[in-house]
Amino acid sequence: MQKPFVLVRGHLLSVARNNTSLEEIRDGGLLIDDKGSIVKAGEFFSLQKDYPSAAIRDHSGSYILPSFFDTHIHFPQLDMIGSCAEELLLWLQRYTFPREAAFRGKNDFVRLAATHFVDELVSNGTTTAVVYSSSCGDATDLLFEEFERRGIRGIIGKTSMDRHCPPEIAVDTQKDREWTDDLIKRWHGKDERLFYALTPRFAPSCTNEMMSMLSEVYASDPSLYLQTHYAENQNEIKWVADLFPDSKSYLDVYDSRGLLGARTILGHSIHTDASDEALLLDHGVVISHCPTSNLFLGSGLFKGQSYLAQKQKVTLGTDIGAGTSFSQWQTMNEAYKVAQLRQERLSPSDIFALATVSAAEHLGFKNLGRLDEGFSADYQIVDPSARAILKRHVTVAETAEERLAALIHFADDRCLKGLHIQGT
Ligand SMILES: [Zn+2]
Repeated sequence: MQKPFVLVRGHLLSVARNNTSLEEIRDGGLLIDDKGSIVKAGEFFSLQKDYPSAAIRDHSGSYILPSFFDTHIHFPQLDMIGSCAEELLLWLQRYTFPREAAFRGKNDFVRLAATHFVDELVSNGTTTAVVYSSSCGDATDLLFEEFERRGIRGIIGKTSMDRHCPPEIAVDTQKDREWTDDLIKRWHGKDERLFYALTPRFAPSCTNEMMSMLSEVYASDPSLYLQTHYAENQNEIKWVADLFPDSKSYLDVYDSRGLLGARTILGHSIHTDASDEALLLDHGVVISHCPTSNLFLGSGLFKGQSYLAQKQKVTLGTDIGAGTSFSQWQTMNEAYKVAQLRQERLSPSDIFALATVSAAEHLGFKNLGRLDEGFSADYQIVDPSARAILKRHVTVAETAEERLAALIHFADDRCLKGLHIQGT
């Protein structure tokens, strides 16, 4: 007897296997098995003929796209989006640290914030998020619980910091280690959806003792992730040089302490030179480009095209709350404009890959991010008619790249009609 397949009908759009062009099937079908894996992606009528007993989910007229990865976002910055400051370091002191102080303990405030945080992710089509929680292990535990309850994928870490911050959010190395060990034990690898990321906030926030501890844990288990910030702004870079006079560079602070590797995700990486970039490549480090944040704080213009030409692993993050939108569509359209300001060119498919299949591959999820045979059916349904201007643009567009460009510039949460992880 034929297995109980589901056949999803719609306009399929995803990055092709060559990772440089688009795979588009205008009246397409996505055949999904009872385990939530994609059996085939093809023409709808042909699949319907071959699999007549498949249950049809008809989304004709809507786009079926892989759901998004957001590779850099801060849970305790939920309430401070759009808080204005001259630059990163002042913004941290004035808004970030006081706001993050509220995200402590297991209480209704943190629980409700976690619910709202996940609400925003899923209402924007994001099913995998790489998250900085607060420095509190208990609040981070609640965030993991909410991710588990909602069934979405997360790489989450409590932010480690033991200096240059208010005492109420500083955590000493010993307590940090206790919380870290406990969170890893409880959550890392759970249901193959939840993972732990060691999360030194950035070099200025961490003593050598803290970084050594995190490095030791990172080395103890190759399946762990590590995330931190790097080379976001010129004042930050000068500060790191003052704090670490024996280091050859900002990146050397992390490298010499064993914090760089193929599961290290560095936020920003804007102000780099050729030797930094060679070192990033050597270690196979993953970069998270956060354009709305970089523009909001005036941090600098990310060199996306040259990084991609070097085969550097680049992904896309919203960086809430310096970033101004949970939407990866908005983030993509600002990534495009950042490239333009550098007189560089990123195509719609280049940018779309950063939020879908490239993010999946670089984070080690070989079966996510593309609508293709053997991949998990993690997909979103986007209805262009929810916005008249988007509907007009996709109607007049002549190529798949042009249709994707229209989505990048006009789609938002109003257009999201469905979101599925492993087909459900
Ligand atoms: Zn950040």
